[in-house]
Amino acid sequence: MKARLTDLLICLKCSGPLRCLAESEDTTLPWFEVLEGQLICELCGRNYPITRGVPRLILGPLPDEVEKTVTGFGYEWQTFDGHIQETYMTDKTNFLDFIAPVTPDFFADKMVLDAGCGLGRFLKLGADFGSRDIIGVDLSGAVDVAYRHVRHLPNAHVIQADIMALPLKAVFDYIFSVGVLQFLEQPQAGFDRLTGLLRDEGSISVWVYAKENNGWVIRFVSPVRQYITSRLPRPLLFGLSYCLGLPLYLLIKLLYKPANEGKFPFNLARILPYNDYFYYSSRLRYIGLVSTIFDHLVPSLVTYLSKEELAAWFHQKKFTHVTITSRNNMSWRAHGIYSSTLTPESV
Ligand SMILES: [Zn+2]
Repeated sequence: MKARLTDLLICLKCSGPLRCLAESEDTTLPWFEVLEGQLICELCGRNYPITRGVPRLILGPLPDEVEKTVTGFGYEWQTFDGHIQETYMTDKTNFLDFIAPVTPDFFADKMVLDAGCGLGRFLKLGADFGSRDIIGVDLSGAVDVAYRHVRHLPNAHVIQADIMALPLKAVFDYIFSVGVLQFLEQPQAGFDRLTGLLRDEGSISVWVYAKENNGWVIRFVSPVRQYITSRLPRPLLFGLSYCLGLPLYLLIKLLYKPANEGKFPFNLARILPYNDYFYYSSRLRYIGLVSTIFDHLVPSLVTYLSKEELAAWFHQKKFTHVTITSRNNMSWRAHGIYSSTLTPESV
């Protein structure tokens, strides 16, 4: 943890300022990098540990369902990390596809928050795009992996915290949250927490699963996930995802990819189910596909959102220039600018 990050943090109990007490530091970096220590609240005295370079700002135990989802994703990121580096999953075109219409130059000199950073693949890209400072937050143990990936970058930070209780000052010009809010118990409350950290004229991007075009997933996959797969031991679920990946991989490579690239004498792509999504998936390596399957089977909580519901989130929170576009015909990416001078009625 860069010691100067302390200035952006607040106490979860009383919102008081924190003081950093370093017990060991990394002297190989040109700034004060705290590896072990504590953050102590100047007002109430509560302290929060800094371990392995990451400040851990969490109050009390998490509810069971949240804990299961968080540890499931934490296992996934730590297991898949070595396999997805330098692939499409960590590529900037993939990141930009999640946050369109935002472009790399948009990041220049902005204070940015990556809400739900996982292993930090987009956090690193946001830092490379020139953010003044970018903070990645995640509740899972994946923060340790994220920290390894960005510790050498002067403008990137990682903290372990809950989106529902963020220990941060409202200083952000831009917040993005890719594939995270749908896994919260109350997705809209999570959105409201994030938007509360924006400066005036700051903006937010979110990417969430769509209710539209996902009818059979909601009807058939969700119960299997809720009652069976989310309860399986993680290594077993990994093995299951690996096996399920094979027929799907063959289907994508032998049918969806050639159909979309004009290799058949007629337009087969037009009638293939979930064509946009599976054609997109043809860019993933086998392990990327396995990771995607694991993603769908591990959380016990998932909310699918309609475009209307998502629009209402922005409408209720004084946002302007809101764009909501479909991604692969099965999810929504939304972006809007916060303006304190607007009344909700005028948006
Ligand atoms: Zn305090």
